[in-house]
Order: sequence, then C-alpha cells, then structure tokens
Amino acid sequence: MGLSTGEWRLFLLSDCIKYYPEVRKYTEKLRMAGKSAILAINNKDAAELNEFISDEDAKRIRKSMRKEWKFTGKVVDNGKRKYTICDYCQRQKIRYKYLCVNNITGVWLELGSVCVGNIIHGEEKMKDADFSSKFVEDLEQLKGKAEKDNPFEIDHKARREQQKDIIRVCVQWLRSNGYKDDDFIRSLHKRWNSGLSLTDRQLEALKEKCRRAKKRMERREQFKSLEAEMQYQKVLLKLQEDPSNQFYQSCKLRLERYGELTPKMAKALVGERECVR
Ligand SMILES: [Zn+2]
Repeated sequence: MGLSTGEWRLFLLSDCIKYYPEVRKYTEKLRMAGKSAILAINNKDAAELNEFISDEDAKRIRKSMRKEWKFTGKVVDNGKRKYTICDYCQRQKIRYKYLCVNNITGVWLELGSVCVGNIIHGEEKMKDADFSSKFVEDLEQLKGKAEKDNPFEIDHKARREQQKDIIRVCVQWLRSNGYKDDDFIRSLHKRWNSGLSLTDRQLEALKEKCRRAKKRMERREQFKSLEAEMQYQKVLLKLQEDPSNQFYQSCKLRLERYGELTPKMAKALVGERECVR
C-alpha cells in the first residue's frame, strides 16, 4: 500500500524526501510553490505519486516521518463557531488547532486532534478505535490552555516596523558610498515591496555587507597622497551619478586596494583620455 493523501502532504513537507530523488524531482515545482500548494493535493495526485514508490518505500517513509514530526504541545483556539480545515486531512473542520512541527525543516501544521495521532503514531495505529479515542481524549485536555495566536505565524507587519529603520540606514549608506544596487539589494526590495518582512538571514547579510564595505572604506586612510584621496572623492561622486560606470568602479577598487591609481587611470580620471568603459 502506498501513502495516503495526508501522508503525501506530510512527506512533501519532510526532510526525508531527499532520499527519494525521483519523487523529489517530479514534485520540485509543487514544493517550490510552498506549503499551501502542497496541502492542496488531492487523492488523484496521491495515486499518481504512489507510482513513484514501492510498498517498502512507503513503510520506510512512514518511519522517517514519525521521527521528524512532533506535536508542539500548543493549541490555538479559532474562537467560538470559527472553524478552519485540518492541514493533514483537508476535511475536518476544527475550532482547536493542534500545532505540529517538523523538527528538521521547521515547517508547522495546524491539525485536528485525530490527525495529530495520524502524524505522531501513524494512520494504522489510529485505526485502533480504543487507542484513537484515548489519544484524542488526552489531547483534548489541552483545550483549556489554548492560545489565541499561532506562535509560528510571523507577524510581518510588526517585524517590518522593527526592521525598517536599520534597512533604510544600511541601504542609504551603501548608496551614498558608491555601491550600486546589486542582485542582493534588488531581491530585498522585491521582498519588501511585496509586503513581507526580511528573513533573519537576509537582514544579517545586509548588515554584513555594510560592515565589509565600511572596513574597505577605513582602508582609505592608506591613501598614498592627498591627490589620491581627492581622486577617491571624485570617483565616489561620479559613481553616484553613474553607478554602473565600470571605469569609475575600477578606480574605486584600485584606490581602496592600493591607495593610488595607476598613472594611466589618473590621467583618464581628469579627462586627458577618453574613459574606457
Ligand atoms: Zn485532519
């Protein structure tokens, strides 16, 4: 027997999929589309996917998944007469959402009580009516401690508020010091403009970029002469007007690295020769 539709949803969000290259390749586009796309697969999709694995594979996958997924102990209350759909079965309407998380990928799911059992004990075990009702009964004791908000859900609005000043300072500092927007900065813009906050990793990378640029700036003290320092100021000004000009970029690098320009570059900078682009 292959995996059930719920098990496929779970598997596509698990780390152990990396051990099944054929499935991984076949589902790459779907997985790139994100969690909600994965959860939307139906029985027909599952039947199709089962063509890629053997019964032995299915057993192994179930075992690996049980190691990866844990119930967090947290319950979120939608509120009176407010229901959402269980992420695993996509059938059960739930007021109380039991939060499960994959301890490798960090993906979290909001489940009904029975499906928590399906995830941590397996569907087979949950078919045992006595075991299942005992499990659900125990779990539902937690309803009293239900929280209002899902702690895994990132509040982008609040995070953007926290991040906006430091981002503005970093980006403006880079620009005013002659660094043109590169692919990295452009990707940050794209994310920001779509209403999201930056990830911790992106924010760290931005700060690191500034730190490195600043270090390079500090080397300016090594200018061989006042003339070199003035050349540097001129290059920065020129780069503000024309950030992609390769000649000015190479002057900037040369001055930062060696403290002076080559005689040829110095001449070109004062316009004695046409700029090499
Ligand atoms: Zn369910």
